[in-house]
Amino acid sequence: MMSHDDVRHRLQHERAAVLARQHDAFALVEILEAIERLDAGTYGSCRTCGDVIDEETLSANCCARRCFDCEVTKSLDIPELPA
Ligand SMILES: [Zn+2]
Repeated sequence: MMSHDDVRHRLQHERAAVLARQHDAFALVEILEAIERLDAGTYGSCRTCGDVIDEETLSANCCARRCFDCEVTKSLDIPELPA
C-alpha cells in the first residue's frame, strides 16, 4: 500500500513528465510552422509588422516568428503558446 507521500511524489513526477511532453509538443509545432513558412517563402519575415527578422534573432531561435521589437511588444501581451 502506497502512503500519501508516495502518491504525492509519484504525482509530482507524472506532472513533470506531462509538462515536459507538452513542452515538446509546443516546440514541435513551432518547428513545423517554421518549415511551413520556409516552404511558403515567408520564413524570416515578421508576422506582425512584415519586416525582415534580423539574423541575430533567427540564429538565436530559428523558429522566430517576429522581429525583436514585435517580440518584446508581444511578450507584454498574452502569449499564444504557454512557455
Ligand atoms: Zn515586427
